[in-house]
Amino acid sequence: VCASHLGRPKGAPDPAYSMEPVRARLAELAPGVELLDNLRFDPGETGNSDEFVATLTDGIDLYVNDAFGASHREHASIVGPPKTLPSAMGRLLAKEVDVLTGLRDRPKRPFVAVLGGAKISDKLGVVEALLETVDSLVIGGAMCFTFFAARGEPIGDSLFEPDQVDTCRRILDESGDKIHLPEDLVGLDANGEFATFGTRLPDGAKGFDIGPGSAAAFTDVIMDARMVFWNGPMGMFEDDRFAAGTRTVAQAMADTKAFTVVGGGDSAAALAQFDLDDEVDHVSTGGGASLELLELGDLPGLAALRGAPNA
Ligand code: ADP
Ligand code: MG
Repeated sequence: VCASHLGRPKGAPDPAYSMEPVRARLAELAPGVELLDNLRFDPGETGNSDEFVATLTDGIDLYVNDAFGASHREHASIVGPPKTLPSAMGRLLAKEVDVLTGLRDRPKRPFVAVLGGAKISDKLGVVEALLETVDSLVIGGAMCFTFFAARGEPIGDSLFEPDQVDTCRRILDESGDKIHLPEDLVGLDANGEFATFGTRLPDGAKGFDIGPGSAAAFTDVIMDARMVFWNGPMGMFEDDRFAAGTRTVAQAMADTKAFTVVGGGDSAAALAQFDLDDEVDHVSTGGGASLELLELGDLPGLAALRGAPNA
């Protein structure tokens, strides 16, 4: 019996997130394999209820977790079955764990991390953990504006997180020599016109991508690396006007001789959009899970497997 979640239904059946199309295709590919409906149709999944775990394990002999992208969650289907069933990792999960713990525990130097995207508060933990291991940390995306604000520089109306400014200032004080921030930016000026800027943005301007000078500098760092981990696009790449920085970094990931790993839903989507997803060594299927595994070296789903009766 296979089981999965799809999207984020709110603990109740929602036809938009039905597994039915998957079930139909699975029946063609693997006749006789059953597929449960979306696990998150039941509030017991995210609530990790014992009753829901019992309905999942009823009549089942063995459990295999191959859901790397959900293994950082203490959800019923992830941590419940190994409490009673002999359990194992699936091959995808085993590969993810092997690659990502390898980055953490056996880095080839120079080891470079490239971080971007929008969710800075989610990512500062991993920034601090990575700074213990990496030789260089390259920061782009909306993330850079909280760091610029921490340097006391004007960021116009760009996206930033005011309550993270102090943390960014401390990170710059402690590890500033390892951190590469953009030296130029592109975005919209106060009149909504496309513009190129230095790092100090005028009032009303918004930065939406790293500039060409930054993209070239980041490329140099990536080309000189022996191992690179990339999470988070360098700009709002969904808009063609602001895709160049992400495209250049994606091309550097493809061109470098370094061992290259990409994690994060939007970063993976960007690679695929540029048709470069086959040119990197590993594209992780988990965004949050890959960051948490790099940060903490373990995940609730992995700990649960280690506690299984056969472990
Ligand atoms: P990932 O899914 O790879 O972990 P995130 O979810 O953190 O990445 O962030 C991806 C989003 O960040 C994209 O939708 C992109 O448009 C947005 N983004 C990147 N740079 C900027 C920016 N300068 N301003 C606004 N949004 C940005
Ligand atoms: Mg995302």
